Amino acid sequence: MDFLAQAKEKQAKSIIEKIEKRNMRGYYCATKEECASLVLSMIKENSSVTWGGSMSLKECGIPEKLAQRGDCCVIDRAEYGDRMQEYYIKAFTADYYLMGTNAITLDGELMNIDGNGNRVASLIFGPEKVIVLAGMNKVVSDINEAYMRIRNMASPPNTIKLEKNTPCAATGKCGDCMSPDCICNQIVVTRRSREKERIHIILVGESLGF
Ligand code: SF4
Repeated sequence: MDFLAQAKEKQAKSIIEKIEKRNMRGYYCATKEECASLVLSMIKENSSVTWGGSMSLKECGIPEKLAQRGDCCVIDRAEYGDRMQEYYIKAFTADYYLMGTNAITLDGELMNIDGNGNRVASLIFGPEKVIVLAGMNKVVSDINEAYMRIRNMASPPNTIKLEKNTPCAATGKCGDCMSPDCICNQIVVTRRSREKERIHIILVGESLGF
């Protein structure tokens, strides 16, 4: 095993200890493929599943694998067209909510931003279980670094992907905007889960999302 991979795994194990002190459950997968297998093994048959817009999930091929499995009720926002409110309410009652995270600290806290708020709302409350995928590229030393990572590393490619008219889409760094297209309306730190093992965090030893 190479030294970088060894260091990532050791770092992930130390973060998992911190995650578990925060009443959440942590896992480590060395590869995207292992992560996809773990997620599929966690989702029980005949359950309802949905997800927030997440590059990490797509890069692991999870939506396709769930569709191939065919024994779950996938609540797919793409099928709701202009009935988004209906989708949000259904998603809120799902058995499983899958998402990436914008950052995770060495101390096991999550930080996420959201333009609309439905993704962070589902992380906080609603779905029975939340499964969070976090590539090791999302690991930061503390909340301050998480904030800077999100504003300058995660938001620019996200706003470009979403075709938003924001300073970060134009310059590649945060302009602390109040633009109608701003995707940083809600900034949420998940410090601890009240419900034990509602939130499951899978650290992946590869780069996932941005
Ligand atoms: S506050 Fe505005 S400019 Fe800054 S990262 Fe968010 S959307 Fe981009």
